[in-house]
Amino acid sequence: MADLEPVIAVRNVNYYYGAGTLRKQVLNNVSVDIEAGEIVILTGPSGSGKTTLLTLGGALRSVEEGSVRVLGQELNGAGHAALVSVRRNIGFIFQAHNLLGALTASQNVQMSLGLDPTLPPEEARVQCAAMLGAVGLGAHLNHYPEQLSGGQRQRVAIARALVRQPKIVLADEPTAALDKQSGREVVILLQKLAKEQGCAILLVTHDNRILDIADRIMMLEDGRIASFSSGIMEHTGNLLSVFASLQRKGDLVRHVGSLSDKKFLEFLEQVTAEFEQFTRMIELGNQEVVEALFDQMLDAITLKIRDMLEAERATIFLVQRELGILQSKIAHGDGQKPLKITIPLAAGIAGRVARTAETLNIADPYQHPDFNPTVDRETGFLTRHILCMPISDKTSNVFAVVQLVNKKGGSPFSAADEKRFRDFAEPMSAILQAAISLQRRAEPGPLPQRPD
Ligand code: ADP
Ligand code: MG
Repeated sequence: MADLEPVIAVRNVNYYYGAGTLRKQVLNNVSVDIEAGEIVILTGPSGSGKTTLLTLGGALRSVEEGSVRVLGQELNGAGHAALVSVRRNIGFIFQAHNLLGALTASQNVQMSLGLDPTLPPEEARVQCAAMLGAVGLGAHLNHYPEQLSGGQRQRVAIARALVRQPKIVLADEPTAALDKQSGREVVILLQKLAKEQGCAILLVTHDNRILDIADRIMMLEDGRIASFSSGIMEHTGNLLSVFASLQRKGDLVRHVGSLSDKKFLEFLEQVTAEFEQFTRMIELGNQEVVEALFDQMLDAITLKIRDMLEAERATIFLVQRELGILQSKIAHGDGQKPLKITIPLAAGIAGRVARTAETLNIADPYQHPDFNPTVDRETGFLTRHILCMPISDKTSNVFAVVQLVNKKGGSPFSAADEKRFRDFAEPMSAILQAAISLQRRAEPGPLPQRPD
């Protein structure tokens, strides 16, 4: 089916400005897909080629090397008529001053409909009024741009882009001229209306306060899609693909025991750098985003360990020494709601591992002096085996504890399980530390205790 094809498919695109010795490459082997209905943010430093890429996708600039397909139409080599027809199916929003000052809000929006000769003028006016109503400007139809605030003008621009119900909106720095509050309001409105219409958005921005509206984030650096972007770019909703990508690279992870120290260090640095890049990108005015990110990161790691070691349950506890507790936000699970657990550092199996840094592989917990059977009694669960392991930072401080419960199949956890777990623990430590620092940065000071 044609609708399974991305609405924009960019393949191996190079782009150059200038000629002769001044010729400068600004896009380097860029490949990107925008799927129907998704909201993709393209970010990256000034001069990295974002606008160039956007204008290529919008048929506003000719494709010279590589392929750009928009709504099924190849743009490389396409004639003028084909380019114009592609543009008609795209709504454009630019940073500012892109309304015509001599026209009212309603007339600016009608400009966009005016391209359709089959639409009676009266019908066009009705559609424009409805669209302006949808962006909250029903009372401003006859205002001129100079009578509107910056935020209101961008709402007119949104109405103009969406009134023809395009399959694609391309937006270049739409919040650049707006203050924080109105910038956010404008993109949230854009997001809502686009989702209602099933319209895909490619939005170029520097504005890291709006990244959370995206289904997916990509980054350009020096004309290239930045290394972590292909997989790690995924935003909150898709964070598992971060881990998918780490897993790929991290076939390394599985072989980590056989890596030389140097190679291993490189791996850790790479992962940590990627997380740092990610944190910098979301540079956090947005607490909820970070929380969600963090939870999903832990969740993904936990699931991975559980499956790897064929355990029924896995929990990662974070050690809060200053509070004398271990905390887990995600103890699962069988697809059920994550639990929040707070347990004392001074008692129990996990507490002991956190205090002593020793691994506990317990074949019969009911015989173990540190095992607390209360939870089993309250929930009807039967703990048969426990494998509990410390995760330390570089200074050998145990900052997390992983606890696996009940090996599937009946026999207890083996020495081989411990070893696999240990191989995985080191790279995991780097990732967890990055995750924690990411969370701490968003929420300075120790985590508040959440009594459960
Ligand atoms: P961004 O939108 O990420 O800031 P651009 O795509 O506008 O980046 O620009 C990428 C690079 O191409 C920059 O170095 C910029 O100076 C250069 N550039 C952009 N437009 C032109 C142009 N019309 N002629 C020559 N160089 C250009
Ligand atoms: Mg630009």
